[in-house]
Amino acid sequence: MKKLLLIIDYQNDFVADDGALSAGKPAQAIEKALISRVRTFIKADNDVLCTLDTHDADGWQENQPEGKLFPLHGVEGSEGWQLYGKLGDMDLETLTKSSYMLDQTDIDWMVRQYDVIELAGVATEICVLQNAIGLYNHAANQDLKVDFVVSANCVAGLNPESAQFALDYMKNTLGFTVR
Ligand code: ZN
Repeated sequence: MKKLLLIIDYQNDFVADDGALSAGKPAQAIEKALISRVRTFIKADNDVLCTLDTHDADGWQENQPEGKLFPLHGVEGSEGWQLYGKLGDMDLETLTKSSYMLDQTDIDWMVRQYDVIELAGVATEICVLQNAIGLYNHAANQDLKVDFVVSANCVAGLNPESAQFALDYMKNTLGFTVR
């Protein structure tokens, strides 16, 4: 059975104190659990993949949809774009995305390749939830059986109530196992 740990956007901009759109302390607090989860996956010969939210600084406010809602973040190659803390030293595979959700092409190979996909990272109520929805629906539409999991101690949100709503949504509407 092939398993994937998909870590969403655990980048300096979303985690570090000086990140452009940081969830701050709650995001930093999951680092230990996240690293331990990564080690467990690697030890069992399962896969780990980290998404990198990636934007272009040019025309941020004028031309990019997130520009009207959020400050500029995830500028490719910048410090804020890099993975936060120890995760960045683990030489993990990364995948860039330019909106909340991974590209359909990436979602497609992912749900075909893995029997179990476990989500972690930040922010629970934004990119984690969006990718949960994207993966779930694509698997369902393609008639593919994938077991989805989310690790409650490996996700963090910008707002505690919204993050809880997102976890409940993944559990009750998408059928995720919350571990
Ligand atoms: Zn973004």
